[in-house]
Amino acid sequence: MKTVRAFADVREHLTGTVALVPTMGYLHEGHLALIEHASKNADTTVVSLFVNPTQFGDPTDLETYPVDEARDADLAARAGATVLFAPDVEEVYPTGELVTVSVGAVGDVLEGEFRPGHFAGVATVVAKLLAGVQPDVAWFGRKDAQQLAVVQAMARSLRFPTAIRGLPTIREADGLALSSRNRRLTVDERAAAVALSRSLFAAADAVEAGERQSQTILAAASEELAGEPRLTVEYAAVADARTGLPVEEIQRDAFVAVAARVGDVRLIDNVGVDGDSLSVDRGIRLSEPSILYREV
Ligand code: AMP
Repeated sequence: MKTVRAFADVREHLTGTVALVPTMGYLHEGHLALIEHASKNADTTVVSLFVNPTQFGDPTDLETYPVDEARDADLAARAGATVLFAPDVEEVYPTGELVTVSVGAVGDVLEGEFRPGHFAGVATVVAKLLAGVQPDVAWFGRKDAQQLAVVQAMARSLRFPTAIRGLPTIREADGLALSSRNRRLTVDERAAAVALSRSLFAAADAVEAGERQSQTILAAASEELAGEPRLTVEYAAVADARTGLPVEEIQRDAFVAVAARVGDVRLIDNVGVDGDSLSVDRGIRLSEPSILYREV
């Protein structure tokens, strides 16, 4: 695996079919599942490592975001990456923010409401990565279901030829979705955080029992969330998988999403719903504690 810092150098290392896995680093099994899947299906797998400042509203969140390039390089190579693209801010934003991608209504709801400007930042950086790397396919986690909807809409709208694909959420054995931010949870906060996934699984049970009304589905989730006083819930919602916008009733593919703060850490999670069969994708659970908490 080669580590490169410039878009022009990435393109020198591309052969055959090219897959891209964009990340902000401090890799865990969720990222590694994307890299492994990508590399099994492409000749060249580019993993990008870039903590994108324009998608952070909260300066403390940006400053405390974990960074360890040597660790990430080792993990990415073992998972099958052939190129690690780790640019600096200047390489990605050579003109500052003179030109950016804006997003429509999805920028104001759920994650968009609680993180103003977040999806414009995501759409902008992903557009740069797609244009600069020119991959055949880019892989994203369904853990960030609204982000996946935004990126798919952006690529469709701006006519990027890259296929945008999603893969299931990877979870700890008790259900907590993996996130690089989980590293910042204290033992007590970690115990509280599992209420997010528990609430989504309660909602999933309601959906799989045949419920299509968002209000009823969310009542099941809220009951679990209300039982955990250490969580400050920001939203619980059912949204359309294609648009990322909230829906009152499930008619097409959708996701049930929650966001909450535990101490200083903000966590999000969701489960995906098949609009026809009402079957729910609850993600994949690890049998061991994540590599987030140990030497690799
Ligand atoms: P991040 O480094 O958090 O920006 O995430 C990079 C990519 O990994 C995004 O496409 C995320 O959706 C995906 N990802 C993050 N956490 C998980 C997870 N627990 N399971 C699956 N994919 C994930």
